[in-house]
Amino acid sequence: MTKAAVIGLGTMGPGICATLARAGVSVVAFDLSAEQRAKAPAMLDLATQVLEKLGVKLVGGGSVQLADSLETAVAGADLVIENVPEKLDLKREIFAAICRLVAPGTIIASDTSGIPITDIQSGMANPGRIIGMHWSNPPHIIPMIEVIAGRETAPETVAWMKDFVRRIGHLPVVIKKDVPGFVENRVLYSVMRECVDLVERGVIDPEDLDTCVSWGIGYKLAVVGPMALLDMAGLDIYNAVGSYLNRELCDRSDVAPYVTQRVAEGKLGMKTGGGIFGYTPEKIAALREERARKLVAIRRILQE
Ligand code: NAD
Repeated sequence: MTKAAVIGLGTMGPGICATLARAGVSVVAFDLSAEQRAKAPAMLDLATQVLEKLGVKLVGGGSVQLADSLETAVAGADLVIENVPEKLDLKREIFAAICRLVAPGTIIASDTSGIPITDIQSGMANPGRIIGMHWSNPPHIIPMIEVIAGRETAPETVAWMKDFVRRIGHLPVVIKKDVPGFVENRVLYSVMRECVDLVERGVIDPEDLDTCVSWGIGYKLAVVGPMALLDMAGLDIYNAVGSYLNRELCDRSDVAPYVTQRVAEGKLGMKTGGGIFGYTPEKIAALREERARKLVAIRRILQE
């Protein structure tokens, strides 16, 4: 397998293209927006520099070309990776178009953050080749990829994808049941729900919450995963604490006003100059640089 098409060059697409190219894959990328296509080379360059700093093995023969139509992008592809916005109708429309354009054996993957793959693949031609390939942002830095089988995904497609993820230097994790949000986002969103609740109730200030999580459990979890942590702490301890604490935890099924009110006011975070914290363009540039540098350094250490 040497040819991949990446559809969508927003937040995720460029880092994915750079990772594939570094592993010797010949990539053709397409975005419907001419503006995004124009921005892509600079974003690809940045991601490539980070891969260099990470010390990711360079396999010869890889490249990224930009296409100006979906048809050109997917022509002759062995693998298509879809990265368009998180809307089921849009994804189904694009999957139907891709299915019409590619050979029956081409594997078609969605980078959806949590839409069940079963909902994307139902009614498509050869649904057995359709699979979830959920990268984590930034995709060239975070090495874990969830591989999700929908109800109709063929076991050979899952096996192929696991091998492919290893081949590009990332770590595949197989999600055995196609549950909404898969695993990474279910865990993340349960953590986020509790964090927002604690801040909203005035238990802790946002800055201290971040320090508590990053330097407490976050730092530790990067080395010892939750299941191993249960063994490390002792299941009797979890049993004792969980027996009074679980009932105290936030279990709301809607999104807290702390978030919905800010969204209604247009306070969306870094992209609008403010959300929970405030941002200037200079601060955003500095944070991006600092976060990429630190993630690179941590990954290098963790890989030792
Ligand atoms: P984004 O909005 O930044 O980029 C999507 C891109 O798709 C845009 O550039 C848009 O122009 C393009 N697009 C829209 N319609 C198209 C079409 N018909 N053909 C080709 N291109 C089209 O989105 P993103 O954050 O890169 O997310 C893409 C997918 O990856 C989503 O399903 C998202 O849930 C998932 N994902 C995102 C993250 C994240 O942190 N951003 C992490 C993991 C997975």
